[in-house]
Formats: sequence, structure tokens, C-alpha cells
Amino acid sequence: MSEDLAKTDFLGVTQDQFGSLLTELGEKPYRTLQIMKWIHHRYLDDFHQMLDISKKLRGQLDEMGEIREPEIITERVSKDGTVKWLMKSVSGSAFETVFIPEQGRGTLCVSSQVGCALDCSFCSTGKQGFNNNLTAGEIVAQVRIARKALESAYPDRKRVVTNVVLMGMGEPLLNLDNVTSAVDILMDDLGYGISKRKVTISTAGVVPGIYKLSETTDASLAISLHAPNNELRDQLVPINRKYPIEELLTACRRYAENLGEKRTITVEYTLLDGINDQFSQAGELAHLLQGFPCKINLIPFNPFPGSGYKRPGSLAVQAFRDRLMKAGYNVTVRTTRGEDINAACGQLVGEVEDKTRRQEKYGHKKSRNKKYHVAIGAN
Ligand code: SAH
Repeated sequence: MSEDLAKTDFLGVTQDQFGSLLTELGEKPYRTLQIMKWIHHRYLDDFHQMLDISKKLRGQLDEMGEIREPEIITERVSKDGTVKWLMKSVSGSAFETVFIPEQGRGTLCVSSQVGCALDCSFCSTGKQGFNNNLTAGEIVAQVRIARKALESAYPDRKRVVTNVVLMGMGEPLLNLDNVTSAVDILMDDLGYGISKRKVTISTAGVVPGIYKLSETTDASLAISLHAPNNELRDQLVPINRKYPIEELLTACRRYAENLGEKRTITVEYTLLDGINDQFSQAGELAHLLQGFPCKINLIPFNPFPGSGYKRPGSLAVQAFRDRLMKAGYNVTVRTTRGEDINAACGQLVGEVEDKTRRQEKYGHKKSRNKKYHVAIGAN
């Protein structure tokens, strides 16, 4: 595939944008339907093969743009069937995408940035520093690549990727425009047709981004809370010093109201041994979230070298969960998946050439992703 960065990457063009573009070319907007289906349903990369549109239009599209999938650097399959791809961004640095198969569904964990600027104290992506935003096309491409690979690995299953979560590398709300376009394409029937309830954008708490997001999408929202009070959250999630818990919850309430139809916000809470996993803290959290329309997802910490944190024992996790359940919350504990290939939450590091010099601060070594190539479905 040729890569001409001055050209439009059609993977990131929404249905509305396509309509305007075709109108400008003097074409009927309904051609969008044909073209988007070729791109996102039949995974075609060559405009000249789009035989139900005129030769002239095929030529114009080819001239204007291309379908630019990131290069796959490695693909690794865990013992438990989790798959992790390392892909190359147009910027030259690399990012990761993870597929988690579960009974009756398959979740793709997608990156929105290479690295992350937020520096949450327990996240290895944060420790890598920040390099660049992914384009809308690069975000969509992660789903396209995964679907293509998995559909050939599991030909008997109708839909392998049923859910998409923007919980890979990066802070989605600091790359808002590209994330909004990408999510639009993922939820569009002419794109990937994933229901709005099954596309989740996760934020560490970029409050203005939540308000903006509610004007442009009705995808599901998750927040990374991780602490029941500002004092502790200031330490774990430094953006809390700018947008404290009360402001975050207010923005989320507004987001949920806009969604209507009894939609809830997912509250993510990574459990760190001896830091935020105490029984009394579960009580404090239950109190804090009273009346807040949410379900709570507890994530036992996934260790990485030099993190300084430990995962709590299973009894502590259970006690924390039970305390919240007793208070009437819907609580799930995220099972750790793909740990043997470093694919668990907070373990995604890609290859980030840090622009913030944070890696020097932490003495973090560049990740060494070995060149494995394993066929998916082998496990
Ligand atoms: N920046 C976004 C999305 C990326 S992280 C956000 O903060 O929501 C997805 C989730 O994994 C977040 O809740 C994050 O806090 C959590 N996480 C990060 N590192 C982790 C680790 N080492 N163990 C467990 N969960 C982690």
C-alpha cells in the first residue's frame, strides 16, 4: 500500500463527511453507502475494484485519498485466547490493540494516542510519556484489522468483535475530534454497526471533554475514578487536581441525562493493595456514589516492573466488592486477561518516543517487543 500522508485517509471519513465530499464532486450523496460498505464491510483497499461506482469517481477517489491501515509490527496470542497487536502509527511510533474473547462476546480494547500525557501513578502507558494523537483512521483501522484477522480465524462466528472500549493507550478526551469521528464510524451501520451501548469511551476525568463529547456522541462513557476522595485521587490520578471528583461526577450526570433511556456511566476502580482497597474505602465510595447512575467495575492492579504497587489478594477484592454490592451497586470484577503477553489493563506500552521526557524521570526502559508471529485461534 502506498502511503502519501498528504492524501485523505478514507478510513477516518464519517458518513456525513463523505456525503459532503461526494456532493462537492457533483455525485449523489447515496454513493456514500456503496463506498463505505466496500471499505468497512468488505475491507477493500483499492478504489478501482469498487465496481458499482463510475470509473470516473473511482479515479477521483484514488487521486484524493487512500485507505491507510497501520502496519502490523507483531501479533501475539495469549494462552487464554487474548490477542495483542503492535501497530505502527503514521508518526513512526507504535501502539497496541487488544482483543479479549469471552463467552458470547468479544471486546476490542483500542488505543487513542501513542503514550499518554496524564501520568496516572499506576499506569505503565503513562510512565512512557506522550508522543502523538492517533488519527480517526488509525482508531477505526484497529477495529478493521482485528475484524479481518478474527473473522478468518473464527469463520463460523457471525460477529467476533461485539464491543469496543477506548481503554488502550492514551486519554481519548485529549484527542476529542479524532475520537468522535472514529466512534461515529464504529457505530454507523455503514461502518462497523456496533451499538452505542457497546462502544465505550473511558476517561481519567477530562471534564471539559465530557461536556463536549455529550454534544457529539451517544456512545457509553466510563470514568477512571480509583479513589473515594480528592486527597487520594490527587495522588493517583493527577488530573484530579484540575478537575476534582465533584466536577467530574457533575459532568457525568449531565452526560448520562443526555443519553436518557436509563443509560449508566461505568466507574472504573483499579484496586491497589493497601492504597485504595480498604473496607472503609469501599464504604466511602458507596457513600460518594449515592444516587449516581453507574455500574462499578473493579480492576485488580496489573503489575509492571518498577510500578511500586501490588495487586490485592482475592479476599480483599471480594470484601471490597461485597461492601459495594450490599449498598445496592451493580459491581463487576474485571478478570485479568492476556497477562502472559502483557496485554492486561495498564500494561500497554507500544513503542513511544516520549516527547515529555517523562521516561527519563522514571528511568523507564523502552519496551522490547519481540517479533512473534502466532496464528490467531491456535489456542
Ligand atoms: N486514559 C483512559 C483510558 C485508558 S486506561 C482512562 O484513564 O480511563 C483503561 C483503564 O485501565 C483505566 O481505568 C486505567 O486507570 C486502568 N489501568 C491503568 N493501569 C492499570 C494497571 N496497571 N492495572 C489495572 N488497571 C489499570
